Amino acid sequence: MPELPEVETIKNELLPHIVGRQVTGVTLFWEGIVRQPSVKEFYSRLIGQRLTGLARRGKYLIFSLTSTKVLIVHLRMTGSLLVGRNSSEPPKYTRAIIHLDEGINIFFRDPRKFGVMRLVEDASIIVGKLGPEPLEAGFTPQVLAQRLAKRTAPVKALLSDQTFIAGIGNMYADETLFAARIHPLRRGGSLSSKEVERLHQAIQQILWSAIGNKGASVENYFRPDGTLGTAHFQFQVAHRLGGKLCPVCGTPIERIVVRNRGTYFCPKCQPEKA
Ligand SMILES: [Zn+2]
Repeated sequence: MPELPEVETIKNELLPHIVGRQVTGVTLFWEGIVRQPSVKEFYSRLIGQRLTGLARRGKYLIFSLTSTKVLIVHLRMTGSLLVGRNSSEPPKYTRAIIHLDEGINIFFRDPRKFGVMRLVEDASIIVGKLGPEPLEAGFTPQVLAQRLAKRTAPVKALLSDQTFIAGIGNMYADETLFAARIHPLRRGGSLSSKEVERLHQAIQQILWSAIGNKGASVENYFRPDGTLGTAHFQFQVAHRLGGKLCPVCGTPIERIVVRNRGTYFCPKCQPEKA
């Protein structure tokens, strides 16, 4: 599933192709991709608009338009936005095409059809409940400590909870906890201030590094030009099958299930007791 580094990469790499371009048409191969408003209204309110900007909040892409509305895209499990020319054949599993002037197309590719587009008046309806952005200056170790305080949920579950912190999902939560040497089942409120500081540093380091590597190409993630990211080559524990060895200490990586999500960690580097 695309997480913050993948969505950030898509935003950065799509932006120069689309800003200032006018939407000249929309083709839907799968109408279920439009969550809001009706398909008919989606066409009429989007066609003719100019795209004036593109931002990311959490795992959401927010396209601003000349009207007061915004187009919000969530890629969910397997979505990608690819940029191509009118002449190019839509990639396999394309569910929607947004046609722009000067012959540019945005292809919404999504094998599993979980991705959604919404055209809304106010982005905060969708993104208003998200937790802080982990790479923004306001996200300090103190802010993280305040949010963790008194929380009894496992820290793994908190990190991948979008209302706790925005943009982190299953794979970067595992990578972050490994880098911070914190067991995924530790209760949020039980972390010492040293551990909170390590966790804060690990969150930022893991996410910045993955953005530098243009995202992780597991499960169908492509960059807008159709190439793959390389962040998964840096993964230490995420997506490892049980039995692979910890790259730091050589202990077999363990897999447990935390709130229904497969979770990988090293039992020696991330001990259960601090
Ligand atoms: Zn280890």
